[in-house]
Amino acid sequence: MESNALAKELRRILGAEGFLESVPQRLSYESDGLGILRELPQWVLLPSDTEETAKCMALLADEGISIAPRGAGTGLSGGATPIAGGVSLVTTRMRRILEIDPENRTARVQAGVINAELTRAAERHGLFYAPDPSSQMACTLGGNFAENSGGPHGFKYGQTSRHVRGALWVNHLGEIIDLTEPAVDPAGLDVLGLLVGSEGMFGMATELVFDLIPIPESTETLLAIFPTLTAACESVTDLIAKGMQPSAIEILDRLTIEAVEKSVFAAGYPSDAEAVLLMDVDGTANEVCDEVHNLQKLLKVHGAMEQRSASSEEERRKLWAGRKGAYGAMGRSAPDLYVADVGAPRMRLAEIVQIATDICAELDLLCSNVFHAGDGNLHPNISYDRRDSDQVRRVLLAGQRIMEACVERGGSLTGEHGVGLEKRDHMCLMFTDEDLAAQDLPRQALDPNRRMNPGKMLPVRGCREMRTRSPYLPGMAEYDGQYGEDPA
Ligand SMILES: Cc1cc2nc3c(=O)[nH]c(=O)nc-3n(C[C@H](O)[C@H](O)[C@H](O)COP(=O)(O)OP(=O)(O)OC[C@H]3O[C@@H](n4cnc5c(N)ncnc54)[C@H](O)[C@@H]3O)c2cc1C
Repeated sequence: MESNALAKELRRILGAEGFLESVPQRLSYESDGLGILRELPQWVLLPSDTEETAKCMALLADEGISIAPRGAGTGLSGGATPIAGGVSLVTTRMRRILEIDPENRTARVQAGVINAELTRAAERHGLFYAPDPSSQMACTLGGNFAENSGGPHGFKYGQTSRHVRGALWVNHLGEIIDLTEPAVDPAGLDVLGLLVGSEGMFGMATELVFDLIPIPESTETLLAIFPTLTAACESVTDLIAKGMQPSAIEILDRLTIEAVEKSVFAAGYPSDAEAVLLMDVDGTANEVCDEVHNLQKLLKVHGAMEQRSASSEEERRKLWAGRKGAYGAMGRSAPDLYVADVGAPRMRLAEIVQIATDICAELDLLCSNVFHAGDGNLHPNISYDRRDSDQVRRVLLAGQRIMEACVERGGSLTGEHGVGLEKRDHMCLMFTDEDLAAQDLPRQALDPNRRMNPGKMLPVRGCREMRTRSPYLPGMAEYDGQYGEDPA
């Protein structure tokens, strides 16, 4: 079909509000939260349900056009950034919570529902949705599913994969596949398990079914104030080793605290602290009382100068709003923020945080830290200005070195933000060519022409050679929809 005719057909399916083609309309979709990498999509498609999604995907399949699935675009690894000539398929008009079933403790939602909206809706039934990324006021549940996202409460409750029960899925050909069977352990192959965390490579989730959890009887929020970041990290390593189970364990360092306290998210964090530990403990009233007592003893041993406990729900919300607004607050330091993301072994938190700090100092970069310490998800945040090409070069170099240092010490190249485009060619740091070829097999089976999110996550060739470029910056032109070999 000729391009104008295809555009006309897509506009007929989606309506004018669901089909964006002018440059100003498409500009907001040229990158996700990793602003260094940008590419304008050919068109932006915003279907309002599964059927519209399927019709569009079938047409795009006929024309061999690649698709970058997209939720809110809060991803930080370039996952939703389109490839030249491809379209963005966006879920933000699919925002209906279809059902909350308090008896089965499940929710069925469209993929574009914002994470925080589900928790708000579930609260009315005494339930909550546990995975709570710090971006939860904006990110979609479809994006969470595709990234297997975590959040502060992932330490106790786990990532998205622990809570997803089903998905309505549209494959690369536009066929609808119903994986919403309400069984705890469905018969046959765990296809859902393969799709969660697949970063948009296998198709499009349009509806999802999630487990909901009863709101605990009691929750206490603690703030422990430390004279050094190292002491805060060591206390986390120790409390995990001793089997303690707070529901959330977050660390914020001095630069982050300063930025938060000067922003609209000011939470009352102390200005003289080098680091604070923000924790939730939940359970029955007795369990919480015992756990808080044990934690406070341990934190004191590790040199906590002061420990506070939120005295009201309002104070608790404020302490958490400060944490969740921390990335926004860092906008005070520089126009751009590069959020590094690595998974550190939890017994080596202090060591790897220090290495990241040293790398940034050596490259003359401003680095702050705020992270899910309990999960070992480190986020050295580098403030920079992307208009300054030398700064961009140093930021990328720092990101690369931090990743290498973490992997060398037994960690992972991503903690929770995914591989996307940013880290694709670093996968060979952790995997052999054989491993990577094996990981590519499901893709060959589910999308043989690799039109779904091409160029993301899996390096099919050239990984080691690409890494030798220093600093590594994925060039968009190299990925014009032709990544990997077409077995046909
Ligand atoms: C301030 C800030 C804080 C953050 N905090 C956290 C955190 O605490 N924990 C965490 O894990 N992440 C965090 N993130 C990263 C990001 O918010 C998550 O990865 C989130 O899940 C992305 O959701 P999204 O809707 O924005 O997806 P997008 O960025 O639009 O897309 C992310 C990926 O999912 C794919 N995708 C999106 N929707 C679908 C769909 N319906 N079907 C198939 N594929 C799809 C895209 O192709 C892309 O590969 C944070 C980001 C920011 C900016």
